[in-house]
Amino acid sequence: MQEIQRRPPTDVRRQLRREVGFGCPVGGCGNPYLEYHHFDPPWHVERHHNSSGMLALCANHHAKADALTVEQCRELKTGPQSATVRGRFEWMRREVVAIVGGNYYHETPHMVVFRGEPLIWFERDEDGYLLLNMRMLTASHERRAQLLANDWDIAGDPLDVESPPNGSYLRVRYSNGDDVRIRFKQWDSAESLGAKHPRILSLEDTISFPLVTVEIAMVVGGTGVRFDARSSEIGGLTMTGNIMSHCGAGLVID
Ligand SMILES: [Zn+2]
Repeated sequence: MQEIQRRPPTDVRRQLRREVGFGCPVGGCGNPYLEYHHFDPPWHVERHHNSSGMLALCANHHAKADALTVEQCRELKTGPQSATVRGRFEWMRREVVAIVGGNYYHETPHMVVFRGEPLIWFERDEDGYLLLNMRMLTASHERRAQLLANDWDIAGDPLDVESPPNGSYLRVRYSNGDDVRIRFKQWDSAESLGAKHPRILSLEDTISFPLVTVEIAMVVGGTGVRFDARSSEIGGLTMTGNIMSHCGAGLVID
């Protein structure tokens, strides 16, 4: 028999996140960095991933979850959900290479500009740290997730919000196909970075290690606009593998 993994399958995690409204349900906590608790039966009694006996909660309340009865856990699965889901990227660096839709942006504060307004951009705080901003484009008339100076909040009615406790990743998806993914990563050497993103090494002496990258992918449902892991596609035009360094603005879309 195959050993069951502690990490629940993707569909179970998604369901557990959704039933608590993407925020920890204990005492109005609302923390969006969720883990998965096995309460009926507990993991040490039986290894299972039956979602009816599991609950999504934050690391803090997960550590204290033995204080909760089975009945209390069940109530938390169906109780009122926190109004707004908010979180924050704690990544603060003076140098970050942004990888947006397969293109690279270095010292280029406005990575993507759409109809005269920045869509994905950095600002520097008074200590020189780069803070990330992102507006989600949508063809719907509903509000969407946004990221302002590293603080994110989720509006509208998302299908899924994925923000694991390590705080390096956020994915928000909506039923009309709108989708955004943001991932911070630190690279300790040119070798490790070059294995994944060889194009960045062409920046040579202008970058130093450890180097932080942030990868951003965005799909605007029902339109021809998508920035995925490989390329940027805007209404039939495809761009990939470009490096922009020390530009005021990177990709400008009218
Ligand atoms: Zn909590």
